[in-house]
Amino acid sequence: MGKSIEVVVVGGGYAGVMAANRVRQRDDVTVTVINPRQVFVPRLRLHQLVGGTHDAVVDYQEVLAEGVELVVDNATHIDATGRTVTLAEGGSIGYDYLIYAVGSLGGGPQVPGAAEFAYPVATLEAAQRLRSVLFDTPMTTTATVVGGGPVGIETAAELAEQGRSVRLVCGGVVGPYLHSSARRTARKYLTKLGVEVIEGPDTSATAVRSGTVELGDGRTLASQVTIWTAGFGVPDLADRSGLCTDAAGRLLTDETLTSIDSDRIIAAGDASAPSDLPFRMSAYIAGCLGAHAADTVLARIADQRPAPIDLAFQAMCFSFGRGVGIFQLLHKDDTAKRLYFTGFMGRKLKEFSCTASIKHLVTEAHKPGSHHWPKDGEHRPALLRARNENVTTPSA
Ligand SMILES: Cc1cc2nc3c(=O)[nH]c(=O)nc-3n(C[C@H](O)[C@H](O)[C@H](O)COP(=O)(O)OP(=O)(O)OC[C@H]3O[C@@H](n4cnc5c(N)ncnc54)[C@H](O)[C@@H]3O)c2cc1C
Repeated sequence: MGKSIEVVVVGGGYAGVMAANRVRQRDDVTVTVINPRQVFVPRLRLHQLVGGTHDAVVDYQEVLAEGVELVVDNATHIDATGRTVTLAEGGSIGYDYLIYAVGSLGGGPQVPGAAEFAYPVATLEAAQRLRSVLFDTPMTTTATVVGGGPVGIETAAELAEQGRSVRLVCGGVVGPYLHSSARRTARKYLTKLGVEVIEGPDTSATAVRSGTVELGDGRTLASQVTIWTAGFGVPDLADRSGLCTDAAGRLLTDETLTSIDSDRIIAAGDASAPSDLPFRMSAYIAGCLGAHAADTVLARIADQRPAPIDLAFQAMCFSFGRGVGIFQLLHKDDTAKRLYFTGFMGRKLKEFSCTASIKHLVTEAHKPGSHHWPKDGEHRPALLRARNENVTTPSA
């Protein structure tokens, strides 16, 4: 028997697990996943962890295919020339192909004091820390959630439903991705739960201090616990390894998800930036990108030409505590349709999509190659063409 092909996946989230399971379509491939924890973290449950309605962990035995080795460690450096990954605990692992799937952290550019005085939600450890801080804070003490996107909305709603006093600082409109009428429903749900929603162009948090949050409109709000959900950030592993990244630190790839530095490195999920036109942060998208990354690796092993990524958007969903939700249908290009589901049905659909995000991984573990997703074929190539024309056409 010939030597096996070593595929190393850095990051065991939605993208990494999907890729690791799918690449096992070939018998001559050995797959190793490097991840800092023993457990899979369904990050789309982290606001529930904060609210105490879910522990947001799943056993890897449930989602990772038999035969995939899990190395519990942090990758600290990728040597693209020597094709090795250095581990924090010492030693290194060699690879023939590396799938870069380290996900995101939340955060991004922050305001003065946010790093010291605000609590993030975006990782398991951050959400657990916030949960214990809230446990020691009286329910009547107002918690301020900064960020009117999905994570901010869901966290604020979850806490308010527990009976906690909560305000949501949106720094613009609440739920900017929602259709305007769905947004009105979102406001109604939040208000009904008792969340004070602060919207408007000057409502961005400009500073966080011990016990206060300052807003762009000059207001200073008393805030015993400030929760930071605004912005986006990624681990700096690619940057630290001298690989090309976009401005946020995502690994720059071509449309097949292959790194522009090395055709042995393929990226997927929140930490990838195909053609410097990244997809938005999403577990659903991460799973599709993970599957596509595996397909690219398999094509390269077989000496075939990998295909460009193609996916059509379908829906995005928000829970407002455990009672109601909004399931916003999307056009293929990721813009909101007029059609959306609300109330109990919205929440059921949200719960269905959370469960489905795990089920897809389980199915792929048992039947590699089975994950399919709707394709678009139109909008992304048009966006790329428009962007490239703008870049290459000198202004008259
Ligand atoms: C509160 C919350 C709610 C959300 N709700 C939704 C939702 O409703 N729908 C939706 O589609 N999306 C939602 N998201 C976003 C979604 O969770 C992410 O987009 C998704 O997790 C991205 O998947 P990924 O595989 O790219 O990264 P991740 O799931 O973040 O996985 C990356 C993994 O890589 C590991 N890693 C990082 N650095 C290293 C390293 N150096 N070495 C080894 N391993 C490393 C990380 O620890 C992690 O385990 C939500 C996110 C949050 C925080």
